[in-house]
Amino acid sequence: MKDDNSPAAKRPAPKSENLYSVQSRIGRQARAVQNGHAGGVLWLTGLSASGKSTLALALEQRLFERGYQTYVLDGDNVRQGLNSDLGFAPQDRNENIRRVGEVAALFADSGSIVITAFISPYRADRDLARAAAPGLFHEVHVDASLAACEERDPKGLYSRARRGEIPEFTGISAPYEEPTAPELVVKTENASVADSVEQLVEYVVERFAADTREPQAA
Ligand code: ADP
Repeated sequence: MKDDNSPAAKRPAPKSENLYSVQSRIGRQARAVQNGHAGGVLWLTGLSASGKSTLALALEQRLFERGYQTYVLDGDNVRQGLNSDLGFAPQDRNENIRRVGEVAALFADSGSIVITAFISPYRADRDLARAAAPGLFHEVHVDASLAACEERDPKGLYSRARRGEIPEFTGISAPYEEPTAPELVVKTENASVADSVEQLVEYVVERFAADTREPQAA
């Protein structure tokens, strides 16, 4: 029976009723074998300045050098194109993350390792993104305390938020809901960038290995 409380059930139903899915002739495993690794979503979530963009870009480079198909989706870039019609009101934030979740799921299905770098402060939004990519979604909590992030403040956003110049700033005047069961926690507060990247590379090498066994008969 379908569980109506599951994240999958909360995925908005399509508007049109006249939709027919097509089935690709290339299976997920065939793509993985050809690429030498499985596809998936590494969903980096954490406070502003916790290290998401830094780690996403460094990880992408490391994986690319090792021959992985990989691509970063980053907040500001996506807001300049696909999501240029969205602001920061709660509904717009939800829609921003919903679209990114759907795009990330398509990348993952194509066999890529897509690394997303969005604060994505609401659990429900992250659960929706997970529901868009069943079995392919890896939630990564990029974890540093608010005090440490505020101390770093690479873009000066925290001091502007403290002065009241940025409304609804996560951690100051808007909530951040910590992941309850992430696949990986990267604690960046007392770690070097190099060590945190290494932790991520090791995770990918271990968890995204292509399964080259012949499919077992049922
Ligand atoms: P976010 O994308 O989460 O807003 P950024 O990556 O833009 O954060 O900024 C994080 C800042 O923290 C950078 O200045 C980075 O050099 C610094 N930093 C210090 N230690 C780490 C670490 N272990 N991992 C990632 N970033 C770190």
